[in-house]
Amino acid sequence: MTVNLALDDALIASTADKAAKAKTLLAEIARDFSPVAFANSLGAEDMVLTDLIVGEKLAIEIFSLDTGRLPAETYDLMARVQEHYGLKLKVFTPRHDLLEAWVREHGINAFYDSVELRKGCCHVRKVEPLQRALAGRKAWITGMRAQQSATRGGLPVRVFDEGNGLEKFNPLADWSEKEVWAYIRQHGVPYNALHDRFYPSIGCAPCTRAVTPGEDVRSGRWWWENPETKECGLHVKRA
Ligand code: SF4
Repeated sequence: MTVNLALDDALIASTADKAAKAKTLLAEIARDFSPVAFANSLGAEDMVLTDLIVGEKLAIEIFSLDTGRLPAETYDLMARVQEHYGLKLKVFTPRHDLLEAWVREHGINAFYDSVELRKGCCHVRKVEPLQRALAGRKAWITGMRAQQSATRGGLPVRVFDEGNGLEKFNPLADWSEKEVWAYIRQHGVPYNALHDRFYPSIGCAPCTRAVTPGEDVRSGRWWWENPETKECGLHVKRA
């Protein structure tokens, strides 16, 4: 975890350089791919992107997915984001009819029982709402980084998202975790209080736990599964 990192000259310079490149790219995306949306998961990377998009007053819609199982700290951050940036977050929730049917059939915590059921829960609570959020958009933006996990190595800055049928941009693909935190520290960006308690990657409360220093940053997500299966369906590549 690098929440409390020391800011040295090299880190300050590399962060400023990458922030300038990300701003340029975001401005190009807003100009060439309108309407475009940024899926703000409220993780540290997504708070950097929020700060860049709002700071540059770019015509990029910002939305978040509320699965109904998020930690209290994430809801607190949603409220702080609205206050800090004067921003009305567009929040998408699961369709109540699909969610009620899924829980009735499988149980409220069925995601612990198998990868298939876990992906089913992620589909109802995240993937279907994401599809609605992206409908009619030409592109979407995420805060994914290549260094985050085994499933994200070689992550491109731009790729056509075949599953959702639109362009997908990952402007922070080549950022290090240290650069993300250097930006947050330097710019006073609000962030999830769980990051200070060894949660580098934060999703739903029952599927996220703290990690120990040196562990993969996504090892606290679905920790009972093998690393190759650990995506929620929002970012899977179609074969
Ligand atoms: S992360 Fe867990 S609780 Fe959240 S949608 Fe996926 S399986 Fe369900």
